[in-house]
Amino acid sequence: MSAPLSWIRPDPHGIRIIPADAWIDPAKPVERALVTHGHADHARGGHGETIATPATLAIMKLRYATSDGAVPVEYGETVKLAGGVSATYIPAGHVLGSAQILLDHAGERVVITGDYKRRADPTCAAFEVTPCDVFITEATFGLPLFTHPPIEQEMAKLLARLEAEPDRCVLVGAYALGKAQRVIAELRRAGHHAPIYLHGAMENMCRLYEDFGVDLGELRLVADTPKEAMRGHVVVCPPSALGDRWSRRLPDPVTAMASGWMRVRQRARQRGVELPLVISDHADWHELTRTVEEVNPAETWITHGREEALLRWHQLHQRRARALALVGYEDEDD
Ligand SMILES: [Zn+2]
Ligand SMILES: [Zn+2]
Repeated sequence: MSAPLSWIRPDPHGIRIIPADAWIDPAKPVERALVTHGHADHARGGHGETIATPATLAIMKLRYATSDGAVPVEYGETVKLAGGVSATYIPAGHVLGSAQILLDHAGERVVITGDYKRRADPTCAAFEVTPCDVFITEATFGLPLFTHPPIEQEMAKLLARLEAEPDRCVLVGAYALGKAQRVIAELRRAGHHAPIYLHGAMENMCRLYEDFGVDLGELRLVADTPKEAMRGHVVVCPPSALGDRWSRRLPDPVTAMASGWMRVRQRARQRGVELPLVISDHADWHELTRTVEEVNPAETWITHGREEALLRWHQLHQRRARALALVGYEDEDD
């Protein structure tokens, strides 16, 4: 392939599918949006039509209190768009409902990953490698220094701390969509079956996960619980609540944070995190490069993140790649 495909165009506000008059994860309201997953930097309200998996649509409904124009697509299902374009939704392994979108037009195949990871996650379907001509990937952790440890190791750290200080609680800051539920599900998998206490802002999303069949065990609300009862227990809250007044209702919390950025010690210090847990819902450097090798596209496009090193890696491996200048993708969900 000598030139980028003419029917698909990266625009500052998203990826445009020209013949279908549609956008992928647009950063502004559009007539027709194909949405990869429910994080706020990808899923926005106000589109005429929103084509996404049922879980993503439910998440968007919860967050934006609107479901106008919702078009559900199951994993493996193909929708026909205008202009002879078809779109197939494939698991991305990032959060509940997250999808890669395979576009097929005039015999050319393009896969847009949205955000993804390759590690097993009990709360969502696993990433599937899909051959294509153009692979449009994220690169949030696109530097060799980012190697996420096995999650079992981070869970063991958390549980060891809980056991070592039974008079305190461990307060884990985790994004309300995805990270919180994954941490809870992994604690269960590690054999921790005690009640887990939630900040009120977590409750609805956890219930939504349960509605989609993800077992999170016994969850209780901090607001309904006397302080003393939470000694020796795990409490989960949004990262923004870690340092605020709300945490005074907890018994001497050990402050923890679950994020890929906890690899960077300075970030943990800035947030006053005592127990950094390196847990990410994004591919690390090794996962990114392995995925490109497995998908083996003619060309890679990099949507957002640290693209320099990944571009260089492509050069070194005689692979074609380009960075797209997209705006509005933030690290809500690291
Ligand atoms: Zn995301
Ligand atoms: Zn993202």
